[in-house]
Amino acid sequence: MTARLPALPSEPLADEIAEVAQRLRLAERYRELDRVPEFPRAEFRALGEARLLGLHVAPALGGRGLLLPRVAATLFHLAYRGGTVFAKLSLQPEFSSIIAEHGSPELVHRYFRPLVRGEVLVANQLTEPDAGADAGAIALRLERSGEEYVLHGTKSEAAFAQDADAAIVYGRVGDGPGLTALVVPQDLPGIRRTVIPDLGERWMRRGTVSYEATRVPVSMRIGEEGRAFDYVRPELTRERALLAAIYLGVARASWEETVRYADERSVFGGPLARNEAVSFPLVEDWAGAEASYLYALRTLERFEAGERVEAEAALAKWMSTEIALRTIDHAIQFHGGRGYSETLAHGQRWRDVRSGPIAHGPSEVLHLVAARRIWKAPRERV
Ligand SMILES: Cc1cc2nc3c(=O)[nH]c(=O)nc-3n(C[C@H](O)[C@H](O)[C@H](O)COP(=O)(O)OP(=O)(O)OC[C@H]3O[C@@H](n4cnc5c(N)ncnc54)[C@H](O)[C@@H]3O)c2cc1C
Repeated sequence: MTARLPALPSEPLADEIAEVAQRLRLAERYRELDRVPEFPRAEFRALGEARLLGLHVAPALGGRGLLLPRVAATLFHLAYRGGTVFAKLSLQPEFSSIIAEHGSPELVHRYFRPLVRGEVLVANQLTEPDAGADAGAIALRLERSGEEYVLHGTKSEAAFAQDADAAIVYGRVGDGPGLTALVVPQDLPGIRRTVIPDLGERWMRRGTVSYEATRVPVSMRIGEEGRAFDYVRPELTRERALLAAIYLGVARASWEETVRYADERSVFGGPLARNEAVSFPLVEDWAGAEASYLYALRTLERFEAGERVEAEAALAKWMSTEIALRTIDHAIQFHGGRGYSETLAHGQRWRDVRSGPIAHGPSEVLHLVAARRIWKAPRERV
């Protein structure tokens, strides 16, 4: 039996990505970063030089200015070749795009442009020990003192807790309902960072960042006081649909390896693939991935056309993570004992993708977002 693999999403940058992946040894680095967790600064810089950071960012700001469906296809290819690491790094400028959209020219110059070049790592700190899925409970205090804010509070679960050069920190000025965002250099007095051991995506060195009377100039504020959540909401919607492409790209790598293995591996006198208990789940995974990818693309097209697609983006992320995790689980299963070992990449991919149903909105909360669209309950704060 010889497997005929369906084509990857067509994307003009696909060959360029394959070349970059080979030159930077992205597949090997992906495995190494699991064993020796560190922020891959050299690769981050190299991706910036290859103009693979900020694919959606306008060319005037150093990005490629690609339309969102092409960004999704490019992320898919990056994830297929280098796991979640390099695809998520590619999205890092989009995660910080409120600086470009609402920040001062000075903030754009000092932080956003260097981020797109891979020179400065800007993290996002929203979650707190008592405010995760419910971002409305964020309590970090920003006390105004002359031309400075004084920060008191703790951010938790934050990616790049150890390595970020700066972070977009969300907090509250006074008792008002809205959140305010500041760009906070992470080497200021009063900042303490602690890393937690993670199940996957260890290169992110997630952790807790506490602010004890940390003084930040008012000029570091992004936009107006109390408006930060309005700024970040559309960004979250876009990212959820783009993340779907990343999870599906990672799963595709495991799926292909399993389809090939099912050809090569002989059990009970014939190829593994001859058993329908193996081939049927694999074709279901193929269908699920195609459908989920097309749904994410459609959602991104509609987002770009100016439609409200919070519900669809929420469902795209939920669906893609379910399908990706199931696909990778099948890869582990059908590779038998080797599948369960760390000699193959499936375990690492599963651990990495397992963050998907939690980060950027837990799946249960994404269901709430979608259900509210149907039953037209008043908008709340998810
Ligand atoms: C790999 C990774 C990277 C992350 N990076 C960042 C980052 O860079 N910056 C940042 O700010 N945060 C980051 N996070 C944090 C992430 O956004 C939060 O973990 C997430 O929002 C959930 O918040 P929580 O952990 O406080 O869980 P909680 O809010 O305590 O929720 C716990 C669980 O309860 C369930 N749940 C919650 N609300 C509801 C509900 N209304 N109905 C039903 N079930 C519900 C869900 O299963 C949820 O997972 C990251 C997380 C991970 C795993």
